[in-house]
Amino acid sequence: MLNIDGSQGEGGGQILRTALALSMCLGRPFRIHSIRANRRRPGLQYQHLAAVKAAAIISQANVEGAAKDSQTLIFKPGPITAGNFQFDIGTAGSTSLVLQTILPALILASASSSVVLEGGTHNPMAPTFEFLNYAFLPLVNQMGANVDASLHRRGFTPQGGGLLHVSIKPTTQLQSFDLRQRGNIIQRRAEVILANLPSHIAQRELDVIRHRLSLTNECLYSIIDNNTQDVGNVVSIIIESENVTECFTAFGKKGLPAERVAEQVVTMAQTYLNVDVPIGVHLADQLLLLIALAGDSRFITMQPSLHTRTNLAVIETFMGSVMTIQQIDDNRWEIYSKG
Ligand code: ATP
Repeated sequence: MLNIDGSQGEGGGQILRTALALSMCLGRPFRIHSIRANRRRPGLQYQHLAAVKAAAIISQANVEGAAKDSQTLIFKPGPITAGNFQFDIGTAGSTSLVLQTILPALILASASSSVVLEGGTHNPMAPTFEFLNYAFLPLVNQMGANVDASLHRRGFTPQGGGLLHVSIKPTTQLQSFDLRQRGNIIQRRAEVILANLPSHIAQRELDVIRHRLSLTNECLYSIIDNNTQDVGNVVSIIIESENVTECFTAFGKKGLPAERVAEQVVTMAQTYLNVDVPIGVHLADQLLLLIALAGDSRFITMQPSLHTRTNLAVIETFMGSVMTIQQIDDNRWEIYSKG
């Protein structure tokens, strides 16, 4: 059985999620210890537990240690079953992160699935629904799957209550891809979500973005949603290029002026545009597992995060040295998987 150290590198939840996803896809059991050792509250929290339970149901796994705060887990997967699933995280834990845990296995399953997830849909430090929908899933679909996500209710912290529906038509083999070029920029746009907050916040955020990125009004959207349990303010800048769409996000916070929130996300978008890579820092760590499974795939990205380096190490534990990372110049790195 593979032994995974949950405290390595980033020492967060992604080590567990990547291990679960690869274990399901490759049919390899593992034991993980020191789960989320580098986090303030180590061990399995509700989002991680939901990911473990979802993975266990879909792969008919035998599991030991799936309890709140547990820092050790044994996971022995069986065959993957496609079907209709419903997973409720029970908190504002990220629905996207639970989805990303089970998606590789469902994409490679022998029949279609539908998954309903309840929890957070807009969490700081996790892919938002917009990121999932505009940036991540189109690349998954480029690899041969057909995944469609629809947002039925937004869920913010601390209460959650968001609802995400996902339909998955699988593929027998993930197709390799080559994302070394971004291509020309087709569109830049910004979306502000405001939940139970005054509308001037969106106006001030969009004013900053309009000015800093020279965007016209047709590229600026505000979405008012007062049907959520919490207050929420999310600012996304979406950059659609010929070969890829990237999505950058900042969250409004009490005490943080709206202009500063907008400045944060503008800076992220400008950095991406300046370094001239197709794949930004978050997409990079989330794509690794898929390109490892697809084989013979490559992309160029900016300076790899600790998440990326840690994820590469977990992939190596499961699959051997299938992945290579190479610095091209001061700002660009190429990551590729063996055929
Ligand atoms: P913890 O580390 O507390 O367990 P966690 O389970 O949420 O938290 P992490 O290991 O920190 O997991 O992983 C967070 C994931 O969310 C990473 O894949 C990261 O790329 C992604 N992410 C974080 N911020 C963003 C963002 N703004 N846009 C897209 N993805 C993001």
